[in-house]
Amino acid sequence: MKLSKICRMQHVAVIGGGIIGLTSAYELSKHFKVTLIEKEKDVCLGTSYQNGGCINVEYIAPVNSYLSFPSVLKSSLLSLVSNSSSNTFFHPKAILEPNFLLWLKHFFSNTSRERILYHSEGMKQMGAAIQPLMEEIFDELELDRLQHNFKYTPGLRLHINPDPKAEISRNKELFDQILEKTYLSGTELEKVKNNSGIKNIDNYNLGYLEPRDITVNTRSLGLSLKEKLTERGVTILQDEVLKYEMKDAKINAISLKSGNMLQADLFVVAAGYGSNSMMKQLGIKLPLMPIKAYSLHKSKSKIAENWKYTVNIDSKVSGLFTPYKENKDSFGLRVTGIRDMNGNDPTMNKIRLNHLIQVAQHFTGEDWKSDQVETWCGIMPLSPDDFPIIGKTEKYSNLFLNCGHGFRGTAWSLPSARLLSQILISSETFCFQPEFASPQRFGI
Ligand SMILES: Cc1cc2nc3c(=O)[nH]c(=O)nc-3n(C[C@H](O)[C@H](O)[C@H](O)COP(=O)(O)OP(=O)(O)OC[C@H]3O[C@@H](n4cnc5c(N)ncnc54)[C@H](O)[C@@H]3O)c2cc1C
Repeated sequence: MKLSKICRMQHVAVIGGGIIGLTSAYELSKHFKVTLIEKEKDVCLGTSYQNGGCINVEYIAPVNSYLSFPSVLKSSLLSLVSNSSSNTFFHPKAILEPNFLLWLKHFFSNTSRERILYHSEGMKQMGAAIQPLMEEIFDELELDRLQHNFKYTPGLRLHINPDPKAEISRNKELFDQILEKTYLSGTELEKVKNNSGIKNIDNYNLGYLEPRDITVNTRSLGLSLKEKLTERGVTILQDEVLKYEMKDAKINAISLKSGNMLQADLFVVAAGYGSNSMMKQLGIKLPLMPIKAYSLHKSKSKIAENWKYTVNIDSKVSGLFTPYKENKDSFGLRVTGIRDMNGNDPTMNKIRLNHLIQVAQHFTGEDWKSDQVETWCGIMPLSPDDFPIIGKTEKYSNLFLNCGHGFRGTAWSLPSARLLSQILISSETFCFQPEFASPQRFGI
């Protein structure tokens, strides 16, 4: 018997060194020899660089339940002619992105009540898997919690609504059959608001409390993963994947910008929005929409010291405020928001940035124009049903995907990576039902 051949550890190439590629490499390194390829000079310099770092474990509303294209088009037009601020902005050049129409088709086929509830169930299952996996990775890799802002920070959503009671009943009727939520109005909401540390929220009359939410610094977690994975024997290559070498419905190797070829048994594409163009050359149409969001990070924020929640404040431009504990006695605050659908364009639009700065100033009463504020924007790879695409492709027997995490890549990274690894080792149990994330739902 050729024992050496049977026992040989299979080699997996993971393409992309954002939070999804790194967590995939971490999970896969428990079972396989792993090489991770990242084109930038370090990991987590793409969308995983300065994101909110908020881990929603209870938020189960897919984008199809709240994004209305007629309203977005109307507010975008208004914003274009009057320079007014808008939360989501659609520019016609978004249409030129590969697979835009396919994305739109799948988006609309997932707006029915039945499909929304189906994906809410998937999100509930994914959410339930996050906390134990976060605890596991921090313990297993002996990561410092303070250094990575790994904390249990309750989530709060604040809205202004003409009829909060009716809105609560509508939400209860739809989503509470999947997961019961904590709704706040009246005196209960006032108590939370008074205790929150947030300024200028007197007129907010509807709230949702998500007590089990977590925060983590995505980039610092990514950098620690790189270090720990290297110690565990994972090879991290700084190179760009240019082409795939195929034979008989299998990928044999990838050719890299350096001129080298990398052979492997299995290939995982975790390249964020870059996965789109990568799949195009393999004849696979990946329905991902690039959405640009902005981020401000203020170190040494006075107000952050008493900031109780990771709070999402609904306004013309909504902001997600995440508190960061930077060291023992220094606190920072990160504000993220804006959804620009204007293609795969990484440039920072000063007008949009200013809209977010105004929001940050309004709700904190602090100066966000100073040099101490780090500004950034990134492109989120959104799938048409707001759920990632994880699993084997039909066309190539050894090609796997882990992409399309949209607004929630950090939150969903660990369950996604665990599911991917469970699929690759043909496990009989899964951390959430794999059908929710299956590439087959988009005919891939
Ligand atoms: C402003 C903002 C705030 C956000 N806030 C949150 C939040 O609070 N919570 C949350 O969960 N999510 C949040 N997100 C979403 C989250 O950041 C993304 O879902 C996540 O970062 C996606 O990770 P990724 O690894 O798929 O993509 P990326 O981080 O973009 O990684 C993909 C990597 O692949 C590499 N790559 C691409 N092509 C190639 C190639 N040919 N060869 C080699 N390498 C290649 C890229 O260089 C890149 O590093 C936010 C996003 C933004 C922009």
